[in-house]
Amino acid sequence: MHGSLISTLRAACGDEHVLTDHHQLRTYESDGLLQYAVVPRAAVLPGTAEEVVAVVRACHQHGVPWVARGSGSGLSGGALPVEEGVLVVLTRLRRILEVDLPNQRVVCEPGVSNTAISAAVGPTHFYPPDPSSQIVCSIGGNVAENSGGAHCFKYGFTTNYVTGLEVVLPDGSVVQLGGKELDCPGYDLHGVFVGSEGTLGVATRITLRVVPTPESVRTLVAFFGSPALAGHAVSDIVTAGVVPGAIEMMDRLSMDASEQVAHAGWPADAGAALLVELDGPASECDARFEDVRRLCQGAGCSEVRVARDAAQREVFWKMRKAAFPAMGRISPHYYVQDSVIPRTKLAEVLERIDELAGNYGLQVANVFHAGDGNLHPLVCYDGHAAGEAERAEELAGEIVLACVQAGGSITGEHGVGVDKKRYMPKMYEEPDLAAFQKLRCAFDPDGLANPGKVMPTPRLCGEVPGPYRRHPLEAAGLAERF
Ligand SMILES: Cc1cc2nc3c(=O)[nH]c(=O)nc-3n(C[C@H](O)[C@H](O)[C@H](O)COP(=O)(O)OP(=O)(O)OC[C@H]3O[C@@H](n4cnc5c(N)ncnc54)[C@H](O)[C@@H]3O)c2cc1C
Repeated sequence: MHGSLISTLRAACGDEHVLTDHHQLRTYESDGLLQYAVVPRAAVLPGTAEEVVAVVRACHQHGVPWVARGSGSGLSGGALPVEEGVLVVLTRLRRILEVDLPNQRVVCEPGVSNTAISAAVGPTHFYPPDPSSQIVCSIGGNVAENSGGAHCFKYGFTTNYVTGLEVVLPDGSVVQLGGKELDCPGYDLHGVFVGSEGTLGVATRITLRVVPTPESVRTLVAFFGSPALAGHAVSDIVTAGVVPGAIEMMDRLSMDASEQVAHAGWPADAGAALLVELDGPASECDARFEDVRRLCQGAGCSEVRVARDAAQREVFWKMRKAAFPAMGRISPHYYVQDSVIPRTKLAEVLERIDELAGNYGLQVANVFHAGDGNLHPLVCYDGHAAGEAERAEELAGEIVLACVQAGGSITGEHGVGVDKKRYMPKMYEEPDLAAFQKLRCAFDPDGLANPGKVMPTPRLCGEVPGPYRRHPLEAAGLAERF
């Protein structure tokens, strides 16, 4: 990398915010998907949107690829650095710029954590998309991944809450996409940006919709003999027209792991737990709550426990939200899968996952957003045992394919990143992929923003006028000409 680029970055952001030392850079070599690690040439921590502009513009002038990084909690390798590139770390941009409650809007910088939004507008309002990683993950990362969470079944995903974005394009220019209003005229460009996984630019200012806090919340957990039985209860509840705020399922293995962290004292012989939360006006909540209890009993649950107060509700949610990190208590390593299936295929696909796990001689824990059919199979393995990591990865791949075959999707909320790009052709035909590429090229004709992610075979944009010259990304084997 050109020394002059490093000098420009230092002049823009200050020496202490430009890291080039290998040991310091190792902090950033992976995101939440530790199976992949790449040390970048430099990591820059800009402190303002103007500094982000200076960094991106300098990379553009030197033809150097870069990757945006929020909190690095992503589970698909989206923030994995590029070896010859710059990592643009956005954790210093953590100011809430405006709280406009009469219009139900918040404007903030991208490094603000998900929970900080609800904290800023509470107790009268809240921000519904609630990834289990919400204490750490950044709103910029949520926007890039179109993140979801337990309450998205009723309330919708990040894309339903972003109304406007300030974006630094890969050539260093700044554009405003959308605004405070719900529907801007013209193409829905901020809709395009949400879920674009850092490949179209850097979001430096985000306008979000927040909603009034419901008057009442009631939470119960119902225990079943198996996830398949609990799956029937989910169908019964949805078919009855009840729209729970959240409806989450855990199997035996994931309860075993979480119990060691949350100490909820849930029955040790239950095969599945269904966590159902209703919110809204108190009278409606109470009436629907009784419907849910009745439907769970009708579907054969062995016990229903109702959260008696806020503290017990918190313990119920701790069981659910601790499931990923707690998996370390029962397995040295695990691989988080994220796929979607039609809700009606729940029992069939869970059976198939069991069968596949048996074939591979590995354990798979299941914890998921049951209402959305968004599965999170956790493939447990011991990375120190020869060949086991490879077997786990292969099994995780088979699970993705089983979900696609059932009419589902390769990812629900964790994104494609580097991990799932090989499965894109299982969902899309070549013309679809070419259309995505054209869209990407409209934002980033030089292919400098997060190259090597999302698209199965990264391609460059258009023909370069004049004699053919190899693009640096081609030379590095990261891309081929399109
Ligand atoms: C224990 C655990 C539980 C999780 N649970 C959930 C869950 O319930 N639901 C869910 O959806 N996800 C979940 N995740 C995944 C992850 O937390 C989300 O994808 C989150 O949105 C990532 O945010 P981040 O700030 O960590 O982003 P990073 O990991 O830093 O980056 C993710 C992607 O966003 C891009 N990016 C980051 N900031 C910007 C920006 N300002 N502009 C443009 N691009 C940017 C990066 O280039 C990268 O492609 C979980 C992760 C963990 C570890």
